[in-house]
Amino acid sequence: VQTCDVLIVGGGPAGSSCAWRLRRAGADVVVLDRARFPRDKVCAGWITPPVVEALELDREEYAARRVLQPIRGFEVSRMPGAPIASTFDEVVSYGIRRCEFDDYLLRRSGARLLVGSPLATLRRDGSEWIANGEIRARAVVGAGGHFCPVARLLNPPRSGDPVVAAQEIEFRIDHEDGYAIAPDVPELYFCRDLRGYGWCFRKGAWLNVGLGRLDTHRLADHVRAFVAFLETRGRVAPSLPRRWAGHAYLLAEPRARRPGVRGALLAGDAAGLAFPQSGEGIRPAVESGLLAADTIVASDGALDETRVGEYARTLASRYGAAAWERVAARVAQPAIVSALAGPLLAMPWFVRRVVLERWFLRANVPATGGAPCSSAAGPWRTGSSATATATPIPSTGCATRSASR
Ligand SMILES: Cc1cc2nc3c(=O)[nH]c(=O)nc-3n(C[C@H](O)[C@H](O)[C@H](O)COP(=O)(O)OP(=O)(O)OC[C@H]3O[C@@H](n4cnc5c(N)ncnc54)[C@H](O)[C@@H]3O)c2cc1C
Repeated sequence: VQTCDVLIVGGGPAGSSCAWRLRRAGADVVVLDRARFPRDKVCAGWITPPVVEALELDREEYAARRVLQPIRGFEVSRMPGAPIASTFDEVVSYGIRRCEFDDYLLRRSGARLLVGSPLATLRRDGSEWIANGEIRARAVVGAGGHFCPVARLLNPPRSGDPVVAAQEIEFRIDHEDGYAIAPDVPELYFCRDLRGYGWCFRKGAWLNVGLGRLDTHRLADHVRAFVAFLETRGRVAPSLPRRWAGHAYLLAEPRARRPGVRGALLAGDAAGLAFPQSGEGIRPAVESGLLAADTIVASDGALDETRVGEYARTLASRYGAAAWERVAARVAQPAIVSALAGPLLAMPWFVRRVVLERWFLRANVPATGGAPCSSAAGPWRTGSSATATATPIPSTGCATRSASR
């Protein structure tokens, strides 16, 4: 049996951010992930500046060997209408590749890594937890994404939860013929019924095309129609790869779920925190991972109900919909939404102020900022853990996805 202060299940952005901050506070942290890194993740790979800020990402160092595509504007349309371009004076987002980004953050965290190891069992033993019968921890963070086993222990899946289902492909553009997408101006294509949107997003030499919807039915049909539409518009070549990857995840409704119990917290998709209008989940994952770490540090390692309650309230106030939004979502008839959407999405001010600044860039949600605690002094039983070295994971480089049909 190996012991640690905190066991984090899942090494995606939520888990690695949590591990990074806990290590800075001197905790001995184990990250358990069923995948081997670098691993890919179904995602467009768009991050907003608050992510860069919260992670104190050194952009120059990161970009030296990885894709970090600055974004200065968007083209927005409601299919099949004409697009409205909106550009900004500064960089408003970045494009990353998840196989690079997640691997970088996990390595940087300084945690002990147990990769290629799924969580199979988790049980309490007094005030501690025992995972897989061999890892003993004082606290557990469930950061295993949508299918996180810790989250399922705390919140058994319920029908009716707001889930977004999405499919995407990402592939290298070897020749630019047929791909007329500007790298710093991604294209967003809303479905006519506003129940989802598609995107064409170029990141350096990589193109990511995808579509996500709130209704999981007939997603493949919607994707096919979207690709046909892009072809007729000359946005993608008919040779677009056909092997799309799919995934689903919960949108934020934190009041409806328990984000923790005594001794355990959930972060990221495991807590169901993605922003509802855009589906952006990396920022909530990173921020909740950092917040979970701060909560554990502040509780002197003994995560009691009071601290868990504070964590839950912070998540709800930051990511939960306002009361009026919940009422509007319940009473809004699809036909009315659809009728209003057409004229609104044809208005440049609405596209810029509401769609982009409010829904996609979340300019109204302040950044959480950098680390509040970097002290090695902490409540940890392992004392010298701040100097513990991370278990190296072999670097095999990112898998290049097949571009064949
Ligand atoms: C098509 C698509 C496009 C998206 N595009 C964007 C975008 O452009 N920008 C954005 O901000 N968000 C986007 N999202 C959402 C975003 O991908 C997620 O919100 C984000 O990855 C959540 O991070 P996480 O760390 O919570 O979970 P994940 O990134 O899913 O990481 C969870 C980790 O847990 C591990 N794990 C799972 N089960 C176990 C287990 N039993 N034992 C051990 N480990 C386990 C997994 O291997 C994984 O490494 C998109 C989602 C989809 C589906």
